[in-house]
Amino acid sequence: MVKVISITNQKGGVGKTTTAINLGTALAVFSKKVLIIDMDPQANATSGLGVLKTDSIYQALIGKKTLKSLIQYTSVKNLYLVPSNISSIAIESELKDKEGKEFILKKLIDPIQEQFDYILIDCPPSLSLFTINALVASNSVLIPVQCEYFALEGLAQLINTINLAKKTFNSNLKIEGILLTMHDKRNNLSRQVENEIKQHFFKYMFKTLIPRNIKLAEAPSFGKPVITYDIKSAGSVNYLALAKEVLKSG
Ligand code: ADP
Ligand code: MG
Repeated sequence: MVKVISITNQKGGVGKTTTAINLGTALAVFSKKVLIIDMDPQANATSGLGVLKTDSIYQALIGKKTLKSLIQYTSVKNLYLVPSNISSIAIESELKDKEGKEFILKKLIDPIQEQFDYILIDCPPSLSLFTINALVASNSVLIPVQCEYFALEGLAQLINTINLAKKTFNSNLKIEGILLTMHDKRNNLSRQVENEIKQHFFKYMFKTLIPRNIKLAEAPSFGKPVITYDIKSAGSVNYLALAKEVLKSG
């Protein structure tokens, strides 16, 4: 059975796309068949995996193409991608009056779900219709949180939205976990934020922390996940450890 995981946080620059690419790659390295769906019009997961931005999830959301026809190979065995591009941005307004607009992605995923072990949805930095579609289509939500001052405020708001989506559209939605990203153990603020999040959300937190690691920032400019760019880097080691935690949770 497929497991669909939304990678969500309404804040930009917290490590959603980095996590989608590198958790996806790590699961693929462990022989799982993985699909990443790029739901962000900025299409960073698409370029970070070196895939051209010619087709887009947009074409499926408006009913012009099937999701299957949009699936592309990546340079990683077992890892596939549905790309995005900037044109997706126009469709939120196009879809806003459509009946069942929250269920479009779920309906698109249904016919392909047998083909994959994991589907990871890289969400845009907003609580928009795209993110709602992702939450409705998912079994669980993985929340990357950057260790910085306002992290906790955003997190409380996000958990409210997840609970609302759960109540209204998807009663089985779970929180896969909160992942601390760009962590720097020598930095006081990083440790302080870590402790605060632990106080409030300990039961949701992954044991794995993702450290700040320059290789993670460099790899996308080569169109590669960090695991194929530099397998020995701290980024690779920790995303592989995260994949083990995700595998364990079933
Ligand atoms: P989001 O998708 O939430 O907007 P990204 O994954 O694109 O965030 O990350 C924002 C920026 O930070 C990118 O330039 C990315 O390469 C960089 N980055 C992400 N995680 C790390 C990390 N652990 N260490 C160093 N740089 C990182
Ligand atoms: Mg992103």
